[in-house]
Amino acid sequence: MNFTCMSCKSRYPLESNKWKCECGGLLGLEYEKDVPDLSKTSLLRDHSIWKYIDALPFVKDDIWQEITLGEGDTPLIKIAENVYAKAEYYMPTLSFKDRGAVLLIAMAKKLGMDRVVADSSGNAGTAIAAYGARAGIQCDIFVPASTSSKKIKQIEAHGAVIHKIPGTREDTAKAAIAMVEKTNAFYASHIYNPVFWEGTKTYVYEVFEQMDGKMPDAFIIPVGNGTLLMGAYLAFKELMASGQIAEMPKILAVQAEACAPIVQAFVQGRNTVEPMENDGTVAEGIAIAAPARGTEILQAIRASDGDVIGVTEDRIIEARKELALKGMYVEITSAVNYAGYVQYVEKYPELKEQQVVLPLCGAGIKSD
Ligand SMILES: [Zn+2]
Repeated sequence: MNFTCMSCKSRYPLESNKWKCECGGLLGLEYEKDVPDLSKTSLLRDHSIWKYIDALPFVKDDIWQEITLGEGDTPLIKIAENVYAKAEYYMPTLSFKDRGAVLLIAMAKKLGMDRVVADSSGNAGTAIAAYGARAGIQCDIFVPASTSSKKIKQIEAHGAVIHKIPGTREDTAKAAIAMVEKTNAFYASHIYNPVFWEGTKTYVYEVFEQMDGKMPDAFIIPVGNGTLLMGAYLAFKELMASGQIAEMPKILAVQAEACAPIVQAFVQGRNTVEPMENDGTVAEGIAIAAPARGTEILQAIRASDGDVIGVTEDRIIEARKELALKGMYVEITSAVNYAGYVQYVEKYPELKEQQVVLPLCGAGIKSD
């Protein structure tokens, strides 16, 4: 199993503890996998993401068994004609980030690491802290000082050392990277470490099973650093390669207009993302002004024949209220997805005839 540089194609074994290439390029992951027949996995008694073990970078009798919290198989709820919400707030730490965090921590443990560093706007840090506690690994979690106090309490409760960094989300990432470079700790990054997407791809596997072996026409996916989007795109490619789907569903990527560098680059037809000023958004979980994987995110949206949606602050707040009045209490960032759907069908009413899945990424009690 190797990391491969996406720029110069250099290879590094995972034991090298690299988080980027010596040329500065970002890393992908290369290993033998056997994508399971999802009509068979749907019948298994195991409901966790580990039922897809043949398509994950681990083997059956492996360290993950001591670390899993049973993450996976979140409900798919019909919220309107042709619209389904996948309730990721059912996860052990109440957000979808558990899908990737459990893999990252299991990998760190397998590689013999006793200390990891992560930076996050909150949910990924919580997930890393929880699985880190379970694995007996010391976690240093860097968050922006403005992070919801509830997320900070959740992280601290798991025994992680929390570092609150003033300034932007990018300043937080810089502080974490400085510590990684100083201590050579494992960088449990959901942005740089591609092992994370091997976990988030199971989101799509599950949807495909839950829809009885059919892919919805479109996936609405919130984008900050693109960790769910990159996982979903990976799953689409795997399911096409294994002959289980004939064409790729569309990715409709949603951002808050106040911090929408991907939307801007896509609309302007660019292949790279220019960093922008974060004008301040209630959607703290996706407020990424300079996404490191911007180029890959744009490629994925275009390869799926997808589109982008920028939503206003009013719409996000309204969508959260509406979801709660339908029985689903989500954190403010998660409401972006429903807001995006509502806004997009106003512009393109034909989408109402198509099956759309959107994620409810995190639980309502995580927001202040
Ligand atoms: Zn390179």
